[in-house]
Amino acid sequence: MRELDVQGIGMTSQRTRDRLIDKIKQLGIKDQNVLRVMRLVPRHLFMDEALASRSYENTSLPIGHGQTISQPYIVARMTELLLEGDNKLDNVLEVGTGSAYQAAVLGGLVKKLHTVERILPLYRTARDLLYDLGYRNIHVHHADGTWGWQESAPYDAIMVTAAPDKIPKSLIEQLKIGGRMVIPVGKKNGEQVLQVVIRQSENDHIIDNHESVVFVPFLQKETK
Ligand code: SAH
Repeated sequence: MRELDVQGIGMTSQRTRDRLIDKIKQLGIKDQNVLRVMRLVPRHLFMDEALASRSYENTSLPIGHGQTISQPYIVARMTELLLEGDNKLDNVLEVGTGSAYQAAVLGGLVKKLHTVERILPLYRTARDLLYDLGYRNIHVHHADGTWGWQESAPYDAIMVTAAPDKIPKSLIEQLKIGGRMVIPVGKKNGEQVLQVVIRQSENDHIIDNHESVVFVPFLQKETK
């Protein structure tokens, strides 16, 4: 296992992290559990060291391969929306592991998390980092999330962190009845909106629209 500087210093210290959480709170995040967990996750370890001094700014940042680590406020907002349902979150799926920051936040709040990433080097880095940080309830998979992760379905909740132009049907099918999915939907460079999908019965779901967001596209082709 690697030695990781979880505590940080200066721009990566707990004080800097606390300031970011205060900012997110000011922006309207109310869920105390979300704020508590985000205070603990060392975001500076989820990106290249060269960018670590910016890790507690409320912005998305590049993580290579044309992908980004999501903006902290959006991570908080999507997590809050996921937790809003009454059902227990024992088995949850994330599509789009990326840096694994969102996965780590979810890992502190749900019993078991499966997360899938289609880009091999991102998958490997995420898997190793989560292991080294001691997360044993997060299972990282290298796969095209268009098909969700059938092996462990159905899920109490699903979070998608890349934007498809329409919701993949197989993801709805992997939700338990009563389960919810948080997903940004819309065209690349166009208007994307954060949606909450609630599966009400075998063949029915409802969709609630929330704020507009900017996400990298959800890709539906396997990389080699
Ligand atoms: N949750 C991430 C956000 C990363 S950006 C974080 O906290 O850092 C979105 C990620 O979704 C990228 O890594 C991208 O490769 C991945 N992605 C896009 N389409 C995908 C698909 N069909 N299946 C799996 N992963 C996908």
